[in-house]
Amino acid sequence: MYDALVIGGGPAGLQAALTLGRMHRTVLLVDSGQYRNGSVAHSHNFVTHDGRSPDELRRLAREDLSHYPSVELREGTVEGVSEIDDGFEADLGGETVRSRTLVLATGMTDELPDIPGLADAWGAEVANCPFCHGHEFADRPIGLLGDGPSIGELEAMLAPIGSEVLTFAKDDLSKVERTERGLLAHRTEGEPVELAGLFLHPSTAQAAPFAEQLGLDILPSGCVRVDALNRTSHPRIFAAGDLAHVEELPVPMPSILAAAAAGQAAGASAVRWLANPEAEHEGNPLTD
Ligand SMILES: Cc1cc2nc3c(=O)[nH]c(=O)nc-3n(C[C@H](O)[C@H](O)[C@H](O)COP(=O)(O)OP(=O)(O)OC[C@H]3O[C@@H](n4cnc5c(N)ncnc54)[C@H](O)[C@@H]3O)c2cc1C
Repeated sequence: MYDALVIGGGPAGLQAALTLGRMHRTVLLVDSGQYRNGSVAHSHNFVTHDGRSPDELRRLAREDLSHYPSVELREGTVEGVSEIDDGFEADLGGETVRSRTLVLATGMTDELPDIPGLADAWGAEVANCPFCHGHEFADRPIGLLGDGPSIGELEAMLAPIGSEVLTFAKDDLSKVERTERGLLAHRTEGEPVELAGLFLHPSTAQAAPFAEQLGLDILPSGCVRVDALNRTSHPRIFAAGDLAHVEELPVPMPSILAAAAAGQAAGASAVRWLANPEAEHEGNPLTD
């Protein structure tokens, strides 16, 4: 029986495991190796790590965890989780493990519009977040794909960065092509346009079914409802990273640093629950 099962080995899960490990709680972290930024060579906007590769960040995090003997890491996929009397039982594809608490850090997936070439450039010349990738396209034309208020907001945010900001409707683009200098956007009508990069807002979904299967509250954003301490509507389940969202924030804020911070809060909340389950249950506004 582990004190905590952490599902997910991105920044949220790795930090949650570190926080639990430092408090001498037994932790099993399971990581299926499918990261939201898996195609990204350089991540940005994380002070002290600006420009570092996500792979390197995860390697450094695992190195940190190796100093804590109560933390165990496994590569693998959790196939299912069910509630038992005193905690949870998880199926690791043939092996069953048990834990008193659960930290969900399984992230979100992105579904790109069906335009040839977009997926190849995803995480390089095609991205969703101007804070993460906008500066790299500075002083060159930047494209936006889509419509609606969120694209209008992107346009205003990118105006001081690009030499110009061009908006395309999804039907306007027949394909995009990576070039040595950026991206060539082929339009259904007219000449192709050279861009430094292209932003869009893909549709997103939970990467794993556990939040829904365990009956957690889900917000209209598709994220798990958590309070500021990353407690969910279930007293023994904590959620952190892109899959979770504090309701009071107007939008989810997916970033490595925010995910790690949430992982720390989730880990600390699990530690508090393990130390004093009754008091923690009463103090959680989401379990009322
Ligand atoms: C194209 C792109 C570029 C980005 N660039 C930046 C950037 O420059 N800077 C920045 O701060 N942020 C960036 N982000 C955002 C950043 O990637 C996320 O905010 C961050 O990865 C969220 O961390 P997480 O731990 O919540 O999820 P993830 O990093 O996605 O990790 C999810 C974990 O859950 C695991 N998992 C899922 N299901 C299971 C299962 N059934 N069993 C076991 N494990 C499971 C996965 O294998 C993985 O280990 C970018 C995102 C995208 C899409």
